[in-house]
Amino acid sequence: MPLPQYIANEFEAFLKCGIAAHGFLRLSCAGCSQEKIVAFSCKKRGWCPSCCAKRQAEAALRLLDDILPLAPYRQMVLSFPFALRFWMQANKKLFSQIHRIALRAMHRHYEDAARRIGIKSPKSGSVSFTQRAGSALNLNPHLHVLMLDGVFTEISGKAHFRNVPRMTDDDVSRLAESISRKVIALLKRQGLLDKEGSLVAHPDVDPIFRD
Ligand SMILES: [Zn+2]
Ligand SMILES: [Zn+2]
Repeated sequence: MPLPQYIANEFEAFLKCGIAAHGFLRLSCAGCSQEKIVAFSCKKRGWCPSCCAKRQAEAALRLLDDILPLAPYRQMVLSFPFALRFWMQANKKLFSQIHRIALRAMHRHYEDAARRIGIKSPKSGSVSFTQRAGSALNLNPHLHVLMLDGVFTEISGKAHFRNVPRMTDDDVSRLAESISRKVIALLKRQGLLDKEGSLVAHPDVDPIFRD
């Protein structure tokens, strides 16, 4: 199977990233007349280590400075069985449905834990990042979810953070099982698996992967 064109484009842009021969800005200081050449970067998101690191630092800063309330967080990483990885990679809609199932289950874990200790109308929170490759650039769509390690609740018009009982290994297994059950149910509903869970059909492949 030939590589999709967007991968070739990404790689070619990366080869030119930060090399002045492919274009640059000449900056000069208004005070003294010192000049500096800054080469254009490729601004790609695939594997340019320089542009990805910059994006990562910018995203982290933005989350810290503008978005995340001061509270404890827990990172959850969700990976998937091999067969499902190919399906998720090839079908964006399926990936996002599974993403939604996973997040809903994680949020429900926190909100249920809060209700059990008497917290009214608890609101959990998360920010999630989709990654499509493992560290060896192998195909491995997975999710990194930054989860509020507790809940917010409203007390006289103001949001207050409340702790919930610490997550245990058993909680994590239950969570993983519940996500797995719901994903299998989704695949059955879509006619991809039969009642016993055996393969019936492969999902459609997004146009980006077609020749
Ligand atoms: Zn100067
Ligand atoms: Zn780059």
